[in-house]
Amino acid sequence: MASDPSALPSRLAGALHDAAAVLLPVRCAGCGVGGRVVCAPCAETLRPAPAPGTRGDLRFTAALEYGGAARRVLAAYKDGGRTDAASALAPALAASVVAVARARTGPARPELVCVPSSAAARRRRGYHPVALLLRHAGLRDRRLLARTGERDDQAGLDLAARARNASGALRALPAARGRTVILVDDIVTTGATAREAVRALAAGGATVVGVAALAQTPRRGVPGGVAREASAPPSHA
Ligand SMILES: [Zn+2]
Repeated sequence: MASDPSALPSRLAGALHDAAAVLLPVRCAGCGVGGRVVCAPCAETLRPAPAPGTRGDLRFTAALEYGGAARRVLAAYKDGGRTDAASALAPALAASVVAVARARTGPARPELVCVPSSAAARRRRGYHPVALLLRHAGLRDRRLLARTGERDDQAGLDLAARARNASGALRALPAARGRTVILVDDIVTTGATAREAVRALAAGGATVVGVAALAQTPRRGVPGGVAREASAPPSHA
C-alpha cells in the first residue's frame, strides 16, 4: 500500500472530495439547485411509471423515459460521482423489477442479473450502478454474466457452452445453468446490450423470464429519439 506511491494522489483526491462533500452544500443532481440531492421538480421526473417497451424482438419493462431531468440525474449518478442520487433512482428500478416479476407465472422465484461493467468502468466508478440501485431497494443481484475476453472461470462449462459464449460480448458463468432470472439494466437504448445479455444467459442454460430497465430512450421517430438502431454495440462502458 505505502509501497505504491502512484496511489497516493488518487487517495488524496478522494479524501479531499469527501471533505468537500461535507463542507459544500448539496446540489440537485438534476438541475444544480441548492439544498437537496434531487429537488422536488426533478424528483417528479423520477416517479416510477413502469411501461412495456420493445426494440425489435426484445421486450422489456422500463419505469422512466430517459430524457430531461431524469437523464441528468442518471448521468450524474453513473458518471458524475453522485452516488447520493441512488435513493432517488432506486424506487423506479424496483418498480420495474416488480412489474416484470408480477407479469410472469411459474413456481420458481426469479433471480436478478445485472450486465457486468467493463474492468475499466469498475475501476473508474468503484461500484456497479445497477447493483447499487438494487441494494438501495433492498434487492440483490446474482452474478451470472461475465464479459467475453475478460478472464474468468469457464472451467465448469463444456466445449459447446464455451463456443456459444465466444459468440458475443457477454458470456454466462457456469452457475447460470438451470436458473430462472430477470435481467436488470439501467437504460435501454438500442436494446443491443440487453439482447446480448439475454442471449448469453439462455446459452448458459438459464431461463430469462423478463427484462427490467430503469429507463428507456424515446422511441424512434420521436424528436430527439434514437437515430441508429440495429448495429450499435453494447453501450456499457
Ligand atoms: Zn433539480
